[in-house]
Amino acid sequence: MDRYIDLILTIGITLGLIIWLTIMSKLKSKYGLNFKRVYCPVCGTKQPIIRVPKNQIQILYGGNTCPKCQIELDKYGNVIS
Ligand SMILES: [Zn+2]
Repeated sequence: MDRYIDLILTIGITLGLIIWLTIMSKLKSKYGLNFKRVYCPVCGTKQPIIRVPKNQIQILYGGNTCPKCQIELDKYGNVIS
């Protein structure tokens, strides 16, 4: 019986995480994921796939600094002011 409780717990936690990540990505939260290529809203430059984080926020939550106009973008391509 204990084995089943462990299994149900593991499945429950995994499903919960997947659902949470999906909701966060839909809401464009910093905890979400974005696998699509992002374009700079200012100059329209396609952002590189391999990004070099320039600060702690970019290391933790993703995002990029536009190589052309040096504006800071989050991982969804929105300007961070
Ligand atoms: Zn730009």
